[in-house]
Amino acid sequence: MPKEIEVKSVLNKTKKRDSWFLDDYTFNPYSSCSFNCLYCYIRGSKYGINLEQSLSVKTNAIELLDKQLSNKAKKNQYGIIVLSSATDPYLQVEKKYQLTQRALEVILKHRFPVHIITKSDLIERDFDLLKEINEQAILPEDLNTLDRGTIISFSFSTLLDEVGKIFEPGATKPTQRLAALEKTVNEGFLTGVSLMPLLPYISDTTEQLDLAFQTFSDMQVNYVLPATITLFGNGDANSKKLVMNALEKHYPELVEKYEKFFQHGSQMPYYYQTAFKKKMEELSLTYKIPNAILKYTSS
Ligand code: SF4
Repeated sequence: MPKEIEVKSVLNKTKKRDSWFLDDYTFNPYSSCSFNCLYCYIRGSKYGINLEQSLSVKTNAIELLDKQLSNKAKKNQYGIIVLSSATDPYLQVEKKYQLTQRALEVILKHRFPVHIITKSDLIERDFDLLKEINEQAILPEDLNTLDRGTIISFSFSTLLDEVGKIFEPGATKPTQRLAALEKTVNEGFLTGVSLMPLLPYISDTTEQLDLAFQTFSDMQVNYVLPATITLFGNGDANSKKLVMNALEKHYPELVEKYEKFFQHGSQMPYYYQTAFKKKMEELSLTYKIPNAILKYTSS
């Protein structure tokens, strides 16, 4: 069972809007994340090895969000709210607590736009609310070209269920997620893919990338945002340690390669990043899928 906690604030203003996710605000109804991805950037000693065991539900989140959005709306400080930046808005417990659903009702009431980023098909439950937000949200002036108030991104590090089971053990299976992605596109939402982090030698191979881009192109997604992997720390609860443990068990032939990649830091080496960027630009052109949300809306 998750812990129930009360917090002082739930709506965070971002210092600078990220050009990929277009976040002016972030809202996290839960603390920690039962999807438990080994590569997750929130990992570290704060949440322990199993993120599901440290999951907390912010029981006063809706009341606080209502107050905070009411103040922002009075000052005309409209902006895109990202759900979520440090958890998934559609965790298993969302079925019981419905914090995301209730948050969307409050967001609709105050007419803020949203960008939902998820690995779950539970989002389908909220399609009606998301459609209303899509029509009624007030966009910040510099994002008026978006011309709609709802953006939905599904997150993938792989399209293969057997790989997902290893690296994202608590998340909805990639095949189930793909079905939800297709439904979301067919409902007419501005829909895309956050293709990150791509796992070297596992999901960044030519074969896997072609499979991914062909699949997304067939579904007519509006954008794909690809990124490399970042891994931190050698402590038991750190992403680097957990991913290395998984490689030792499931991909022992890759251990040395990953050790070399991360011997000097948390990012993939410069030569890899340069080749990755070039490859992603080529794939974006070949499959005619924009690699930024705003590129889609301005085309
Ligand atoms: S779904 Fe996102 S927030 Fe949750 S564990 Fe995975 S990467 Fe982290």
